[in-house]
Amino acid sequence: MVMEYEVVIGLEVHVELMTKSKLFCACPNRFTTEANSHTCEVCLGFPGALPLLNREAVQKALTASLALNCEIALHSYFDRKNYFYPDIPKGYQISQYFIPLGSSGFLEIEDDSGAPKKIRIGRVHLEEDAGKLVHGGAGDSAVDYNRAGVPLIEIVSEPDLRSPGESRRYLEQLKSILQYAEVSDCKMEEGSLRCDANVSLRPKGSTVFGNKVELKNMNSFKAVEKALEYEIERQAQILRRGETVIPQTRRWDEDKQVTIAMRDKYQATDYRCFPDPELAPIELTAGEVEAARRALPEFPAQRKSRYMAEYGLPAYDAGVLTATRGMAEYFEACLKLYDDPKSLSNWIMGDFSAHLNAAGLEPQEAPLTPAYMAALLQMIDKQLISGKIAKEVMAKVFATGKSPREIVEGEGLLQITDQSELEKLVDEVIAANPDSVQSYRSGKTKALGFLVGQVMQATKGKANPQLVNKLLAEKLK
Ligand SMILES: [Zn+2]
Repeated sequence: MVMEYEVVIGLEVHVELMTKSKLFCACPNRFTTEANSHTCEVCLGFPGALPLLNREAVQKALTASLALNCEIALHSYFDRKNYFYPDIPKGYQISQYFIPLGSSGFLEIEDDSGAPKKIRIGRVHLEEDAGKLVHGGAGDSAVDYNRAGVPLIEIVSEPDLRSPGESRRYLEQLKSILQYAEVSDCKMEEGSLRCDANVSLRPKGSTVFGNKVELKNMNSFKAVEKALEYEIERQAQILRRGETVIPQTRRWDEDKQVTIAMRDKYQATDYRCFPDPELAPIELTAGEVEAARRALPEFPAQRKSRYMAEYGLPAYDAGVLTATRGMAEYFEACLKLYDDPKSLSNWIMGDFSAHLNAAGLEPQEAPLTPAYMAALLQMIDKQLISGKIAKEVMAKVFATGKSPREIVEGEGLLQITDQSELEKLVDEVIAANPDSVQSYRSGKTKALGFLVGQVMQATKGKANPQLVNKLLAEKLK
């Protein structure tokens, strides 16, 4: 990476809102593979069809703006952004051009040294999505309008980001907050979160911005980071040769791992924006804004600090458990029934997460409910089963949906704590392993571990290991 230049990055993020219906009509806002099945006169732009604003979308946009620390415009309205493209049936997009719902917000991230840094958010506005062009193999193209009219918010950062790593952390933080606030599912691979990046370089110490390039077509946070790294190096080479960076829009080619020029930008496109005469303005009261602010959930950063302070968890555990709202809520539901936070955290981060990932489930969908998790851990504490057996039981709960107790009792997995039964096995193991017994008696204490292992094996892990240890040590004295 180049050191003689300063990198300047700003991100524009589009997020689809999780609402029941579209922004200006009653069509369902749901993914379907059947093209043009969620359409009507309004979202197809038929002449004379009138849009009607979806209040739920305004509420979600308000929640998002507040979650991003924005000032809220109590009076805002919609504008028509005019341009002609087949995915936009009316010949204009309804957006908020002149007055965004939210402005002057910020998001806190860590810079490359790990220090906290505020990234300013210029605006958060509400708008409708366009349809989707589907390009056929024979050079033909079709349009699917299911996405046309889906509510979006556009979140525009100020050019405060200084590296690809900061940009990735900004996106991760943004996604986490919007998911916590239940504004959007933010699935970049499904297009419910899309990101364009503006990037330019300038000599260190300069206060004037260099010519910027807009990057498009990045389908993951990793791709955003890679595309920025590539583009920074490309621009640095141009500047080092004493040439000028051409202001343009470039797309990221994931296969070739390069950016490719799409079109030059000599002047800003004129969208001839004007207020939409068919829609009433959005009027909010200070009371409504306050109510939405009070309804905001506890966000990951606050929750992480609380887990460390209140439950004494290490920063790593607290970070993993609060990464998604679903995981944090699962943890807290378990904690109401089982009050050993660290033991719970170990099981959730370990086996539980592995089973979730393997099955592609969210914590709330897991067959191992918080009640089952608590029951399982209590059985370990009461020495009814060993930790090793508990792992097997957890796998079986995920596979069958049965309760841990049903599995333990049904399969005879209860730990053997009957001393006379174990003594018999211990005697057998001692008789069968004279060499190990000999080396233990000659001072090699490691040999005891081997003998314990033999007894555990003979009971298929059901013996109480502490008891086996004690019996063996006594008999070998
Ligand atoms: Zn519709």
